[in-house]
Amino acid sequence: MTLQQTIAEYLRYTGQKGLDISAALIDCDGVLYDSMKYHTQAWVKLMKKNGIKCTRDEFYELEGMTGSEIIKMKFKTGAGKNVTDDEAHALYGVKTRYFRELGEAPVMPGAVRVLETLKESGIVNVLVTGSQQDALLERIERDFTGLFGEVKVTGHDVRKGKPNPEPFLKAMNKAEKKPHQCLVIENAPLGVQAAHAAGCFTIGVTTGPIPEKDLYKAGADLVYKNMDELAAALPSLLVALSLIKA
Ligand code: MG
Repeated sequence: MTLQQTIAEYLRYTGQKGLDISAALIDCDGVLYDSMKYHTQAWVKLMKKNGIKCTRDEFYELEGMTGSEIIKMKFKTGAGKNVTDDEAHALYGVKTRYFRELGEAPVMPGAVRVLETLKESGIVNVLVTGSQQDALLERIERDFTGLFGEVKVTGHDVRKGKPNPEPFLKAMNKAEKKPHQCLVIENAPLGVQAAHAAGCFTIGVTTGPIPEKDLYKAGADLVYKNMDELAAALPSLLVALSLIKA
């Protein structure tokens, strides 16, 4: 499919008359940081300590759900245990400690260039993450100085994790944007599903083991191999998107 056909297809299934992109809603783990290998390792450690069998791949599939959603689900299916909110909160604290012990995840190659290109094109970058860690949010300020706008959505703002569209709907609401004004950059199938359900033009990046076809199946409009490839393609993509103004 050509870029023009992809955009036409987006307009067809959303019923939008045109695109007028002025905001990019950007996920954090697996997009800004190469952090998913650490998260999946920390999740497996937590589950094993609690006698729950699992593989790292499962946690790539679950990325985007909130920490307590993941804990409640895995303890129920893996150990037949109903975890309370307080217990889930405490267990998530342990998982976060295991994650931190692995050291700082590197900035994703190409991420800075993607954000710079968007900003130079007059597009406001909006962080949309399920994370509630203040240390991470401060780190983003440091690693991506001046590249994000004022508005951001974090784990403090949302009640339902992805694939519920709430995080993206909240971001659009806060930034005063409509779906045809937003593109989303996501790496996880549940994140792509949430963005697609919110009606945004959704770009997937396969920065982990999840194959391209799974992101298309989840509803991605376009999929790039990684953030470097997206950075290289972005200038012509933005031209193509701007030609379709309503
Ligand atoms: Mg992610």
